[in-house]
Amino acid sequence: MNCKQYKKIHTILSHRITQIALHTAKPLLALSALIGSAIPAQAVTFNFTYEPGITQEQIAAVELAGNIWSVYLQDIDVVINIHVEMTEGVLAEGKLGGATPAIQKINYDKFKEGLGADGTANIHQLPTSTHSSDKYRTRLAGGIINSSNDELLTTTANNKALGNDLSGDASGLDAYIQLEKSVNWSYRYAGGKVDQNQYDFVSVAIHEIGHSLGFISGIDALSGLALPTALDMFRYSTESANQRAIDYTVGGTKYFSINGGQNPFNFTQSKGNTPTVHQALFSTGENTLLGGDGDQASHWKSNSQPYLGIMSSTISMGGIRKISRLDLTALDYIGWQVDYSPTINLPALSRNAQTKAQQIWDSQFDGNTNNDAIRDRSSDVQQMMQESGIYNWGWNGYWQTAHPAP
Ligand SMILES: [Zn+2]
Repeated sequence: MNCKQYKKIHTILSHRITQIALHTAKPLLALSALIGSAIPAQAVTFNFTYEPGITQEQIAAVELAGNIWSVYLQDIDVVINIHVEMTEGVLAEGKLGGATPAIQKINYDKFKEGLGADGTANIHQLPTSTHSSDKYRTRLAGGIINSSNDELLTTTANNKALGNDLSGDASGLDAYIQLEKSVNWSYRYAGGKVDQNQYDFVSVAIHEIGHSLGFISGIDALSGLALPTALDMFRYSTESANQRAIDYTVGGTKYFSINGGQNPFNFTQSKGNTPTVHQALFSTGENTLLGGDGDQASHWKSNSQPYLGIMSSTISMGGIRKISRLDLTALDYIGWQVDYSPTINLPALSRNAQTKAQQIWDSQFDGNTNNDAIRDRSSDVQQMMQESGIYNWGWNGYWQTAHPAP
């Protein structure tokens, strides 16, 4: 398999259809009946908007990715607004897709409160158990311990799941997702097939939505200027665990732990009849000069065998990636209400996505532009990035990398 080069993905745009349209337009009432057949009544709602230039097939693929997350995430009052754009040569070299989530700074107290209200995660397994009540400890470069942290970063979508939405703007953009236009994409996720020379579009869309939900690390932001994130509250090394601190450094061996770092989260996967226990390792940073493994820290370690989850940093040609129990556990622990074993009717979810894509496509031609899901939202995206406060240094966000060899 030759190494096909891709340019970066990444960037900006955003936002979505208004809720008014969802609740009033007749065609959408019909749609909600369809949704009822495949998506649980208790589910997160995704409102996608699309930058002009996207195809109806690509819209359907994005809608399917959202539908799949909705089957797992039961936060019934949470509406997530994401703008999607097909860009060419904007993302970094070799990148298939990128996510630029809206970011909020919250108090650690608020984070713990939100987790406590979540009802799924066991509060005693949270970092609370190893930190003082309103502060948490981080291990920094050189082994320095900072024990006075009382703030962290979340994505606005994550913050909605925590019940802490501070924006007061229910219709604001929660993320901007870019997908690389020049890639040889496959759109056959529901059929389970991808040609050996193609990348699966839906898998990458699911991945980028995953970042938007809160699967991000502050370690990826430039110059160490960013605070740790909600996900970083579960990032440990042996060294940091010994000091009862999360590990906020590049490089080394970093693991996802739900018991204050005592051990990595272990989960079992079976290949044939052979169950194997895997450790949940994180990627350790793009900066190889500082000892990072070359991948953004906001991913599972990509060369772990076998596959850890949809939030691994790379995807191969010819492969389809699915949401794993590990992915769900991470989202559970940062505040989402997770159904770990839902019934997934992929054909129904796919039909629903196709219907919605058709409606979105047709709405371009109905003479009413106010609620069009396909529209230029570059100014909304810029506003979202400015308000996030961590995109001010030329850094774009979180992405997934092409891995040419299956
Ligand atoms: Zn990624």
